[in-house]
Amino acid sequence: MRVAVAGAGVTGLTTALVLQRAGHEVDVFAARSGLESTSGAAGAIWLPVRVTPGGRELDWASRSYRAFMALAGTDSSAGVDVLRACEVVDDDERPWWGDAVDGLRLVPAATIYPRARQFWSFFAPRIEPAVYLSWLAERLTRPVVYRTLANLSELDGEVVVNCTGLGARALCADSALVAVLGQTAVVAPGTLRMDTFIGDERDQAAIFYAIPRRHQVVLGGCRTYVDLVEPPPPDPVLREAILSRCRAAGYEPGPVLAERTGLRPVRPSVRLEREGRIVHNYGHGGAGYTLSWGCAEAVAALLGELA
Ligand SMILES: Cc1cc2nc3c(=O)[nH]c(=O)nc-3n(C[C@H](O)[C@H](O)[C@H](O)COP(=O)(O)OP(=O)(O)OC[C@H]3O[C@@H](n4cnc5c(N)ncnc54)[C@H](O)[C@@H]3O)c2cc1C
Repeated sequence: MRVAVAGAGVTGLTTALVLQRAGHEVDVFAARSGLESTSGAAGAIWLPVRVTPGGRELDWASRSYRAFMALAGTDSSAGVDVLRACEVVDDDERPWWGDAVDGLRLVPAATIYPRARQFWSFFAPRIEPAVYLSWLAERLTRPVVYRTLANLSELDGEVVVNCTGLGARALCADSALVAVLGQTAVVAPGTLRMDTFIGDERDQAAIFYAIPRRHQVVLGGCRTYVDLVEPPPPDPVLREAILSRCRAAGYEPGPVLAERTGLRPVRPSVRLEREGRIVHNYGHGGAGYTLSWGCAEAVAALLGELA
């Protein structure tokens, strides 16, 4: 089939690659590159943050976990590596996504995080957006066409796959899709561990995470609902708050090398469904990488039903 994919973030590029591998003729159209979009602002670690449990999401997240773990083991040029992940918790409730990951265990002692009583330890793939988004784009037969769409019907093709993230709010008049601001500081490692992800979401007003990349560490964060279509500049007060959360966790970060903000495309649930010639695949919130392969495979399955 001739397929036009709208959007070149992690969702659009992964969907395009999966459809191309399934034998479709795929063109990608986007206003901006993935790196300039929310996908470029992500950490990014596999973790189904704030994903509504119980639906198709567990399957999508599991498939993506397997795809990233396989990639980490076979092609280091993709920028995907496996880390030990430590998700700090107060209660003993097993995470709803526990069956999706390898090596899950509750570690009672606060060995890596003095303020914590316990944490869930598991293996998690970490993705370097700058490396990975290029890796995806390089695997497409045709280069991304840069063009801003006023309407999805502008695109030719038997099927149009809508992977426009927050852009879908205007393109689909979808008021259920909202922007949730994130801010990160990329720091030199300092005393932070380069093999361990730490996530602490116990206080929603002061979330903290440290995601080691190959040479730097991404510190976050915030999760604030905003009425914006473009991310604001980084807030210096929030940067200092993030650095002090890192120190309170027992680690001295190195110098700040870069800062970034991004708007997560949050929806009560991911919109993945067919509407005439259009297949929607947007609204992945804070888990676009985590769901990317599973959602792309679900789109491919929908197209398979049409063939
Ligand atoms: C600080 C932060 C940290 C995060 N950390 C993680 C993490 O650790 N793990 C994880 O899984 N997720 C994480 N996320 C969430 C993740 O980044 C998003 O879920 C994901 O990037 C969404 O990808 P997307 O491709 O759907 O949208 P985007 O990356 O926003 O891409 C949208 C694409 O559509 C195009 N587009 C939009 N409108 C139009 C239009 N009208 N015409 C043409 N093109 C259009 C854009 O130009 C762009 O190419 C994080 C997000 C933030 C902000």
